[in-house]
Amino acid sequence: MSKVFIRKAEYDYKTLKTVFFEIMDNTAGDMIKKNSRVVIKPNLLAPASPDKAIVTHPLIIKAAVEYVLDKGAKPVISDSPAIGSFEKIIKESGIRDALEGLNVEYAEFRTSLSVDVGKPFNEIEIAADAVNADFLINLPKLKTHAQMLLTLGIKNLFGCIVGMKKPEWHFRTGVDRDMFARLLVKIYQAVNPDITIMDGILAMQGEGPGKSGEPRHIGVLLGSRDTTAIDFTVCKILGITPNSLLTNKYIMEQGIAAEEFIVDGDLPEVKDFKFPEMAPLVFGPRPVHNFMRKHLVQRPVCDESLCKLCGECWEYCPAKAITHDKKKIRFNYEKCIRCYCCIEVCPHGALSAHETVLGKTARRILKM
Ligand code: SF4
Ligand code: SF4
Repeated sequence: MSKVFIRKAEYDYKTLKTVFFEIMDNTAGDMIKKNSRVVIKPNLLAPASPDKAIVTHPLIIKAAVEYVLDKGAKPVISDSPAIGSFEKIIKESGIRDALEGLNVEYAEFRTSLSVDVGKPFNEIEIAADAVNADFLINLPKLKTHAQMLLTLGIKNLFGCIVGMKKPEWHFRTGVDRDMFARLLVKIYQAVNPDITIMDGILAMQGEGPGKSGEPRHIGVLLGSRDTTAIDFTVCKILGITPNSLLTNKYIMEQGIAAEEFIVDGDLPEVKDFKFPEMAPLVFGPRPVHNFMRKHLVQRPVCDESLCKLCGECWEYCPAKAITHDKKKIRFNYEKCIRCYCCIEVCPHGALSAHETVLGKTARRILKM
């Protein structure tokens, strides 16, 4: 039966390292072999200082690197960020400074290989370094996610899709959170991380996972060989049923992982955690879906006082639904697939998801 280790922790390196090593000893045991290539996959969404809770904390990455070095193996830090260059994130997030003097390689995921994940997606291009790693340590950050409710262990592996292939997959799954959740689970199964250790010390609540979210202290590290067990445990910690998270729901439906697992350690008490607003993306009879999408369903909205017209959103938007002039950006809500990538990539926290008053009223009438 799977086991999840949960320990109180803070970003004080001496104690953090002890806790991290204990979790690794309990989960990885002797699995990391001398001279093996160990890929460490943090959440490196965007350049941001650790106090913003956007990226996995540099001290957790440092503990992972030191653990791998202690085993005589070769640590490699990899990801394919949504915003900004990999190098910029490593520097501005304080990772390079934290790891100074350690023998570690930084290697952005650049090359993909095709993996047959079966129906309905068939072939998916996934970072070759992730699939071929001798050992993979998944280091997600506990954060909310405007499209998928939360980004945890499974969602973190979407970073193994290289560069602009990510928005392409958003576009292919369209206005369908269930389909996107299935895609995430398929990627998780293909990458199959050996260990997942989650940074739940300074988590994120509200309109995550980027600058629109709000840091929230929880003070725990969670570790397991079973990523699904971590995601289930986080739902319990936050007071929601596991199947509120669509990746968990799909896992349960498909019998991919056992719902029963052992938790070693105490769950922290987390009260009034703020989740993003998750109104349905399609509702009502099918013939009126296009009208609904244009006028009623939840949509990205721009706070013009914060927008710097930097272009990140319109360059990334998979549906090419954002245009701009010299003064402001505009959304084409008929084209928009509500993936909320724009909210994720906006470096200035100018975007958030809102439901129209008309939409709320329509849902009340339709009892949705
Ligand atoms: S909304 Fe954000 S990402 Fe888009 S142009 Fe404005 S500041 Fe840049
Ligand atoms: S406008 Fe935003 S939510 Fe809509 S498709 Fe583009 S990135 Fe996704």
